[in-house]
Amino acid sequence: MQGVGFRPFVYGLATGLGLGGLVGNDADGVFAEVEGAPAAVAEFLQRLRRDAPPLARIERVTVTGLPPDGSRRFVIVASQAGQSRSALVAADSATCADCLAELNDPADRRFRYPFINCTNCGPRFTIVRDVPYDRPTTTMAGFAMCPACAAEYHDPGNRRFHAQPVCCPDCGPRLALTGPDGQPLGGGPADPVAAAARLLRRSLIVAVKGLGGYHLAVDAASERAAAALRARKHREDKPFAIMVPGLGAARRLCRLDAAAAALLASPRRPIVLAPRRDGARVAAAVAPGNRELGIMLPYTPLHHLLLAAVRRPVVLTSGNVSDEPIAYDDADALKRLGGIADAFLTHDRPIHIRTDDSVARAFRGRPVPVRRSRGYVPEPIRVRGGFPRHMLACGAELKNTFCVAKDGYAFVSHHIGDLENAETLRSFTEGIEHFMRLFDIQPRLVAHDLHPDYLSTKYALDLDGVDLLGVQHHHAHIASCLADNGVDGPVIGVAFDGTGYGADGTVWGGEFLVASLSGFERGGHLAPVPMPGGAAAIRAPWRMAAAYLDAAGMPDGGGLDVAARNAGHWDAVLALARRGVNSPQTSSAGRLFDAAAAILGVRDEISYEGQAAIEMEQLAAPGERSGYRAGIDQRRPFRVNGADLIAALAADLRRGTGRDVAAARFIGGVAALIEDGCVLARERTGLGTVALSGGVFQNQLLLHAAVDRLAARGFAVLLHSQVPCNDGGISLGQAAVAAARDRAAQPA
Ligand SMILES: [Zn+2]
Ligand SMILES: [Zn+2]
Repeated sequence: MQGVGFRPFVYGLATGLGLGGLVGNDADGVFAEVEGAPAAVAEFLQRLRRDAPPLARIERVTVTGLPPDGSRRFVIVASQAGQSRSALVAADSATCADCLAELNDPADRRFRYPFINCTNCGPRFTIVRDVPYDRPTTTMAGFAMCPACAAEYHDPGNRRFHAQPVCCPDCGPRLALTGPDGQPLGGGPADPVAAAARLLRRSLIVAVKGLGGYHLAVDAASERAAAALRARKHREDKPFAIMVPGLGAARRLCRLDAAAAALLASPRRPIVLAPRRDGARVAAAVAPGNRELGIMLPYTPLHHLLLAAVRRPVVLTSGNVSDEPIAYDDADALKRLGGIADAFLTHDRPIHIRTDDSVARAFRGRPVPVRRSRGYVPEPIRVRGGFPRHMLACGAELKNTFCVAKDGYAFVSHHIGDLENAETLRSFTEGIEHFMRLFDIQPRLVAHDLHPDYLSTKYALDLDGVDLLGVQHHHAHIASCLADNGVDGPVIGVAFDGTGYGADGTVWGGEFLVASLSGFERGGHLAPVPMPGGAAAIRAPWRMAAAYLDAAGMPDGGGLDVAARNAGHWDAVLALARRGVNSPQTSSAGRLFDAAAAILGVRDEISYEGQAAIEMEQLAAPGERSGYRAGIDQRRPFRVNGADLIAALAADLRRGTGRDVAAARFIGGVAALIEDGCVLARERTGLGTVALSGGVFQNQLLLHAAVDRLAARGFAVLLHSQVPCNDGGISLGQAAVAAARDRAAQPA
């Protein structure tokens, strides 16, 4: 990749060892010729890998002998025009230690300059407008370099050699603090950071322009500020993320193992979900009823300055109202956030592309992405076997990402969001065009979901002159897990999620697939139940409780509170379900969780996808190890009777078992049915590897229990580590399926 400082590094290494030669880059990556004493050449090769700059990624080094030509000088040769643009743009990267030291050095000319950056850090993806990656094609085009910056930019020995966003207080972007009307606040304070910090300490709301969009900031310990933010954002229940100045402060809020701490401090700087410490000083409105907090470290110089000035943790949540996409354009931000924020800490470096913060957690020592976006994108994912043709995969409907691919690489997009309003749809279509240009990809094959009503599907079907391939939703989930692990299959794929269009036109979501990249067979699934009222049942989990209690032989609700709470509509909903009126059959595991959550009194209605299951996980007693058991109907495909779990849950509650213990036993029961289903699938197929995918596996209690049970039965278990198990990973899965079919269709 360009802009990661590899050529200057090679230059410095070679000149330091007294070697002559050259370094440059072409379509295949970086090439270098070195000439000198054998010992120096050997050391060059050794340090090439060992000392490479932090953002460089070395896949392999190939060495070839050449006759010496007497070179004494070492030079960086110009990039060749017309070369492949396969991997030119890097991801945005957190401020490096060298820049941070300069930021805090009163003698440095960039002392306290909020836009300091170098070859090893700073904005990349979010400022790139076009290719080739060069200053005029970034949002830094309007800032002409001063002589001092230009000298650094042109000096191969300098840390800022060819760092496109290089700038300083004399020539670069400037900070401003404005009111909600866009006018400078208090006559334009000399130090906008200090002034913004004072507002935060007074419990006011400040919109802060970041790398990929605006955040809304408040003092994380202020009940008043957090409650006001929640009210003005109309964000009823979703937790807010918190930025803390450093790892020490992070450890005061959360319990961090080594993997979580490494993730938190990595240059990618995702929001890390980690167990909250008892007594952590965080306002109740920040993450109501949640045992985890989402925390992150500063990733821009502005964040570092602001956190140092506020001297306490700060909520930094996306700048939007409820479900809208995050604001990133200055005028739009004032319009949309003017009614929320008391002030705007902003600047004049435009953001080219809206990019949300990434979210991740550590699971047993490895990183698991929840949302893969800023800091990761557009870094390519290597896909084994490669792509015979240029390809586009359109992804799903919720948590959409798309993916373009060629040669050995898939470029999975930033988080686009839920494709249900005009603005996210525009992000989707413009994003695809942007990626096609950046990576020089003209798709010949386009993969899409089978759901005819997804806007991503409609987009694919509207394209001219391309081959189309529909990929079943849960097959795409399992394929994404296989591609994530560099495996072709076949495996036993357990795809548990909320909703996906089944190959038979019904709603799937609790699937045991015998799957490889190129195809799948439905080995088994949860026994279908009706979804009374269709989409209404997704918004109102108590409706699923009614359907599941009916399936468990308790049409009257078995004397449970959930029936009493919803007595007014219970019989009508049940009649709807039984007659099959607007009540499609579903094998969805998400809907089974919804039913249990409503029965447990967690919630009868939801305000965001997956909410009931997420809150049930918070309720569940972590120490409880047992699980309810579900029977399996052995026909082919086999059917696991989820209603058995509901019957056991109802009986347990009637016996007076605590809700926390019952919730844990239900989750343990889902893990047990996964174990039982996989054992049966192994008996039928001989396969010993299980891939777990689908949004339901974001449930940590379930994931731990399922992995333990499968391992105890001798299964090898594949999990995600590069793309999320939720629908954010679907586009990679679609691309991997399309590539496998394409490879199989081509003569060897
Ligand atoms: Zn730096
Ligand atoms: Zn300058």
